[in-house]
Amino acid sequence: MNQLSPNKKPLIGISANLLTVEAGLFAGQERTYVNHDYVTSILKAQGAPLLLPIISDDDMIAQQVDCVDGILLSGGYDVQPLFYGEEPQPYLEAICPQRDVYELKLIKYAVEQKKPILGICRGLQVLNVAFGGTLHQDISRQGGRLQHSQKAQKDVASHTVELVIGTQLQRLFDEEVIFTNSFHHQAIKDLAPGFIVSGKAKDGIIEGFEHPQEFIIGVQWHPELMVDRHPIMLKLFEALVAEASSYRSHAK
Ligand code: MN
Repeated sequence: MNQLSPNKKPLIGISANLLTVEAGLFAGQERTYVNHDYVTSILKAQGAPLLLPIISDDDMIAQQVDCVDGILLSGGYDVQPLFYGEEPQPYLEAICPQRDVYELKLIKYAVEQKKPILGICRGLQVLNVAFGGTLHQDISRQGGRLQHSQKAQKDVASHTVELVIGTQLQRLFDEEVIFTNSFHHQAIKDLAPGFIVSGKAKDGIIEGFEHPQEFIIGVQWHPELMVDRHPIMLKLFEALVAEASSYRSHAK
């Protein structure tokens, strides 16, 4: 694998959602999809986006990972709490265990193949769970004092995130404080062992975390919705594409 000519852009696999059509002629039909902002953000960062549908065969998932140079875990449903050792609480929202199982395997193979991973929103949460961490099932009832499900438009920066000096996240933004949107009702509770916090909201909610050595980074906000009005957010995607590109040039 990875035998594309050097002038080709690095391929970034974007983990997809499963949507069940609710009404009309195609009611009940399942669709593979991602919000298009993920695709356009990767394109803007000079990467080649590729959708990764939810599948169950282990060898095929490993093969999906073979084909790409980096992974973007997109947003979506709550993670099934049983996967981090908890029973569902009353304010848990919709889950898609099929997607959890798929992404946990995708992460495992991506780590084995040392491909860079960026997790966005649910992507951060599933990354934390994959490495042994846990989640708050609903932060409005479990310690979050700020509005993390903003009522403002999707590209409005609604709260601050203080970045931890020296982390990959802080260095790539080259700022100590950034301003982010916020569309999450869950958050990291226990951080996965071996990982570090790279950004927090003023109420202590973890907004960014990462592996201290590898390019495995999660952010709780939605940079893909902000890139047009807040070009600084493109830096995250550019960092992923740069890492993916260096992966490919070393992989021959
Ligand atoms: Mn937030």
